[in-house]
Amino acid sequence: MRQYLEIKNEYKDCILLFRLGDFYETFFEDAKITSEALQITLTQRNGHPMAGIPHHALDNYLKKLLEQGFKVAICDQVEDPSTAKGIVKREVTKILTPGTIVEENMIDENNRYSLLIYLIDNNNYVFVIFDFSTGELYVDSFNLSENEILDFISSYSFVQILLSSNLKTLKNKIKNIYPALYVEELDEWYFNNNFEDILKESYEILNIDVLNLSNNELLALGAVFKYLEITQKQKITHFSFPKHFKSSNNMILDSTTILNLGLLPNKENKGKTLYDILKFTKTSMGARTLQQWISKPLIKKEDIEKRLELVEIFRNDPLIMEELKEYLSSIRDIERISSRISLLRATPRDLTALKNTLDVLPYINELLNILGLDLLNELHELKQLLNNAIADEPSNQVGSGKVIKKGYNNELDQYKKIFENSSEFLKEIESNEKQRTGINNLKVARNKIYGFYIEVTKANIDKVPPHYIRKQTLVNSERFITEELRNLEEKYSIAEKKIDELEKKLFNNLILKLQKYVKELKILSSNISKIDILRGFAEASIKNNYVKPEFDNDNFIIINGRHPVVEQFTDLFTPNNIKLDRNKRFVILTGPNMSGKSTYLRQIGIISIMAQIGSYVPAEYAKLPILKNIFTRIGAKDDVVSGKSTFLVEMAEVSTILNNANEDSLILLDEVGRGTGTIDGISVAWATSEYIYQILKSYTIFATHYMELTMLNDFYEGIINKRVKVLETESGIIFLHKIEDGISDKSYGIEVAKLAGIPNEVVVRAKEVMEEISNKTEFENKLKSMKKIKQRKFNKNKNQLKLF
Ligand code: ADP
Repeated sequence: MRQYLEIKNEYKDCILLFRLGDFYETFFEDAKITSEALQITLTQRNGHPMAGIPHHALDNYLKKLLEQGFKVAICDQVEDPSTAKGIVKREVTKILTPGTIVEENMIDENNRYSLLIYLIDNNNYVFVIFDFSTGELYVDSFNLSENEILDFISSYSFVQILLSSNLKTLKNKIKNIYPALYVEELDEWYFNNNFEDILKESYEILNIDVLNLSNNELLALGAVFKYLEITQKQKITHFSFPKHFKSSNNMILDSTTILNLGLLPNKENKGKTLYDILKFTKTSMGARTLQQWISKPLIKKEDIEKRLELVEIFRNDPLIMEELKEYLSSIRDIERISSRISLLRATPRDLTALKNTLDVLPYINELLNILGLDLLNELHELKQLLNNAIADEPSNQVGSGKVIKKGYNNELDQYKKIFENSSEFLKEIESNEKQRTGINNLKVARNKIYGFYIEVTKANIDKVPPHYIRKQTLVNSERFITEELRNLEEKYSIAEKKIDELEKKLFNNLILKLQKYVKELKILSSNISKIDILRGFAEASIKNNYVKPEFDNDNFIIINGRHPVVEQFTDLFTPNNIKLDRNKRFVILTGPNMSGKSTYLRQIGIISIMAQIGSYVPAEYAKLPILKNIFTRIGAKDDVVSGKSTFLVEMAEVSTILNNANEDSLILLDEVGRGTGTIDGISVAWATSEYIYQILKSYTIFATHYMELTMLNDFYEGIINKRVKVLETESGIIFLHKIEDGISDKSYGIEVAKLAGIPNEVVVRAKEVMEEISNKTEFENKLKSMKKIKQRKFNKNKNQLKLF
């Protein structure tokens, strides 16, 4: 207990799992928490609460503890109990948090991003985003409000958040909104200036200048490595060089847009997303990388066209495409396996998976070769090493003698030989003993507790010779040993112990040898991901009838475009066109509720994104500008958390757009100004439109209920009016979801109410009321007064660039 208390004292913030024999035990408060969290029995030991879990089931229970937001320290016996003098030495060997699990059986294929936030001053922050299980890592500086940070957190599924200790209020806010999210505060000393050595060691570099980061960014990155080294109790060398989140090679989609357009699976967005539609990938790395591609579309024409070209090559050869798919299915998660190798946490199963993956590469290369593509590095040396070292169907238990292959190590083979013919050997002893004693049903066998024994049935007990030593009495028989068997047993158990030790040593040495291939494996993994995704794009394009997009910044043309997700769930999707250019670049879209405005808006955004990640697009023809960013303001989202009104949220979003958009942007606006009174709403929407059109010059689609906005066309030729066609029949209206030139003449609110199942009496009464209050002349007067709006030329003043 003294040993326990001493160790626990150093790990107060953790649940301490303390190895005692075959169990990991918890004591005192930890025991109460653990028994509750894991639904295991709480017992007493010398009057103290205690709860334990069997050591072989550790992973299972650990997973449950981590999922519930606990930090867990594993305390192991670090010397052999049979040779230890006094109390066995114990040490904490690992500290686990949700962001540092890498074990295959504890996590699914998705990325496990952690976020470290370091507050420099005012609203200046450094973010480090990293996935410990894959080694991916980003660093960037931002100027953000706390609410913008909360938005950022909501749009990514972080598994762990680390905060500098000057972020206490933010910590509480995060804890309030996401009670199950693991949040940890890092002491000040993590962020001090001595980051140089740890960064040099972690990246195996001589000079940290090559990391290309600001001093504050280096400080924050240093804190991440310090944290990981302390919790993992080892050097961390498997991370990629830091990439900037805001990159000049990628479009950065803000969280609202990712959510609004339904691009990626999200806690708040349970429906199918673009990711689900494009996910024809066969490998875990491919699936993860696809998510990254979708959130960061390309903005360089050459980069996009390279991907599209590859998709075309796969498309043109459907047979090879299918064959490739088969082979890719046998590729295992070598990105994570290589991380585990680097962390010395790889299992025999991992190495078999790696070996099998390398075995498939020549077949894939054969196909790539036929297509005239670059080949994958087959890593022959590594393959040879694994082939020589790892048994064909290894046990996952190192030390069992069934992991290392025969022929790899002479000494090990010698010890294993003892067991090789053991069953025949046993038979031989058995028949000798039978002859000697005349007991015909005598059996010789071996078990863990007594070693070798001779079993004699009760009926023959009087024939047992005197040198047999009784060991165990069963219902119908007795078990004996002899001096000869005892000697034999000693030889066997020594051999077993040797095999255990040797195999563990050989396995660990093997992992150390494999570490030099980690970098190569990461490159291989990234190349496989690319092939996997692009092959998948080809398959998606054939299955869903997509077309290869063309690019031209002065045109925005989509002929018979479709919404890739909505079209999957309806038999009758109505395709729609858009034709914009540098002059005609702003659309005012009117039409009743439920007629398909948002779908149209979204499909234009999604098609642009698909094109810029290198996918074919759901249309008959598409000639698109290469967008640097896409801004969306779709739907009314109340920010319940911070207590801001819908209108305020909406205006904050519009303000982000007005401050950041330019002629390389696409702006999708749905119902701006609705959260306030009609006149204010129209006025804000009007001014916003003018500003976008005159100053920002972005391609814009603005869906609105405000008919008045259609008059913008009288002032600006480049702002054009479109409407959704509505068929009026005797029994009511029918939505055809077809977008055409013109202005919607009515808003059909009452008809939509009817469609939605409002009782007929209410519908009839509403029509009566409308007749009475709608005053044609009043509306016409309003239009007249709008015609008198004075034109306003905005002055272009340089705006400071903000977030993203
Ligand atoms: P609005 O924004 O005008 O209220 P939505 O875009 O939300 O309308 O569309 C309402 C519903 O109509 C969608 O859920 C979808 O099922 C259907 N829809 C929209 N556009 C199309 C289309 N082009 N073809 C077929 N169905 C459509």
